[in-house]
Amino acid sequence: MKQDLKQFEYKISLGQNFIFDEALLADIVQQTGITKDDTILEIGAGRGDLSIALARQCKELVTLEIDARLETVLRSRFEEFDNISLHMVDVMKTDLAQLMEGKGPFHVVSNLPYYLTTPILNLLLHSKLPLLGIHVMVQKEAAERIFARPDTPEYGPLALAVAYKTAPREALSIPAKCFTPPPKVDSVFVTMPYHHAPPVRVEDEDLFSSVIQTAFAMRRKTLANNLAQLVKLPRQQVLDLLSHCGLPEKIRGEALDLPQFAALSNAIKRLII
Ligand code: SAM
Repeated sequence: MKQDLKQFEYKISLGQNFIFDEALLADIVQQTGITKDDTILEIGAGRGDLSIALARQCKELVTLEIDARLETVLRSRFEEFDNISLHMVDVMKTDLAQLMEGKGPFHVVSNLPYYLTTPILNLLLHSKLPLLGIHVMVQKEAAERIFARPDTPEYGPLALAVAYKTAPREALSIPAKCFTPPPKVDSVFVTMPYHHAPPVRVEDEDLFSSVIQTAFAMRRKTLANNLAQLVKLPRQQVLDLLSHCGLPEKIRGEALDLPQFAALSNAIKRLII
């Protein structure tokens, strides 16, 4: 299987850490829970091994790859599959809504290029795409940020966006040696099935995201000081707002959980309209 890659120069700058082990690929596919009714968007086809394992189990696979050197091998390997479409594009510069138009709700599956972990997760979690789930391989430290609890250094906008949209689960721990070439740290395959309905009521999702971003903008500052930048209100009014939400004056953003951020952003919404 790896024969035609002997001469291939892996680009670390593109996060090229491939998986060839068929048993591991089968485990990954199984953990996503996808069925023959599902449509999948894959980010980063690489040499296509995960793509093929997925295509065998799903209805339709749309896969993206940025590295033009992989196009020939991918087109030839995908020839026998009538449910795979390959797009040689940069995921960050692609209109995913347009690409997936008419395909209905879908899953994203990816052995992520690690340099783009946060941008890709933010792109998906803050999009209006009809997502059923995001199932991704990430580095251990990124998994820690996904599952982080309040009042820990890893806690921040990513954990909150994930918890608002999905119910994340650490599905598999994968040692670095399972990748070619091995990355510096071990990885975790995380599955994030989307909630049918959000776990908290948010009146304005854009404002909710802005409040969270602002609360973590300067982690050492109090929430009141950070929020003053966003709401442009006199300090006393900001403190009244916190008190209205049952939050102490000196609290930092990192102490608030998801329901508290939802309540705070709803209170701000009512104050500014
Ligand atoms: N899916 C393959 C596997 O599991 O063996 C490859 C995974 S590898 C970790 C990540 C892949 O994403 C690489 O093939 C890389 O070239 C591709 N990639 C990197 N940046 C990308 C981008 N901006 N858009 C699309 N693909 C990208």
